[in-house]
Order: sequence, then C-alpha cells, then structure tokens
Amino acid sequence: MPDCERCGKRSRLTLVRIDRAEMYVCEDCKRFGSVVEKKVEHRPAPRPAQVSRPRKPDALSKRARELVDDYPKRIQRGRESMGLSREDLGRKINERVSVIAQLEHGQMHPSDNLIKKIQKALNIEIMEDIEEYSPTSHAQSSGMTMADFIIAKKK
Ligand SMILES: [Zn+2]
Repeated sequence: MPDCERCGKRSRLTLVRIDRAEMYVCEDCKRFGSVVEKKVEHRPAPRPAQVSRPRKPDALSKRARELVDDYPKRIQRGRESMGLSREDLGRKINERVSVIAQLEHGQMHPSDNLIKKIQKALNIEIMEDIEEYSPTSHAQSSGMTMADFIIAKKK
C-alpha cells in the first residue's frame, strides 16, 4: 500500500488537487482537495475524415433546375393549345386571372409550387436543367493544347 502524500497513512490513494498541487492522498484527506480526473492513457482513435474527403469530380458539377427564359410564351402557347382562356386556366390551377396574365407577360416570377401546377395543367415544361461548371470539369474540358498533344505523341 502506498502512503498518503498528505498525512502519510497507508491507504488506497486518490489523486486530488489541494492548493493547486496534485497529490495522492488517502480517503480521509480526499475531502481537503478536489478529485482530479485520471488521465486517459490512450487517445481516442481519430475519426475517419469523412467530411474532408474529396468528392468525385463529377459530383462537383451541379445540376440545377431553372425557369426557362421564354416561360411566358410557353405558358400562353400551352394554354391556347388546350383551348383555355386565362380564366379557365386560373380556375384549373386555383389562381387569379391577374396571376396568369402577369405570367404570360413575364411580369411575375412564378414560385416552385406555381410552376409545378402550370406544368401539370398545361402539360408543358417551363423548367430546364442547367449544368453549372465546376473548376474541375472546366479544366478537363479545356483539355490539351496542340503543343501538349505533340509532346505527348513523341513520348
Ligand atoms: Zn491522508
């Protein structure tokens, strides 16, 4: 049995902090200080760096859906091809006539919900896929220059 560093009693000792000093003391002297948490021997295993893992190049090129520029025309054409008046379309998608008119004049940017309703009601597409160029895909597409090609061929 080790000796208590405070009173010298042989006992099971606990590491405590007394007056900024850490010492091993017996059960009786423990109350004079605050128990120090035992130091962890082994470090916790580092987490797999999932967050910083580089993505695949093709994951960088985002695909986005955007409203087409000529949506006013498409809406009008779609509506007319179905033989609907603005009032009819408004009733069909539960919107006011003024909303339909504003859309067909390009005076209003429809919400996602409204876009969906119009597309469904008129069986048209007013959204298109936009491919956003990432630096990676741009570098790949710019490719080799003629000089690079010649050098590569010589090797
Ligand atoms: Zn003691």
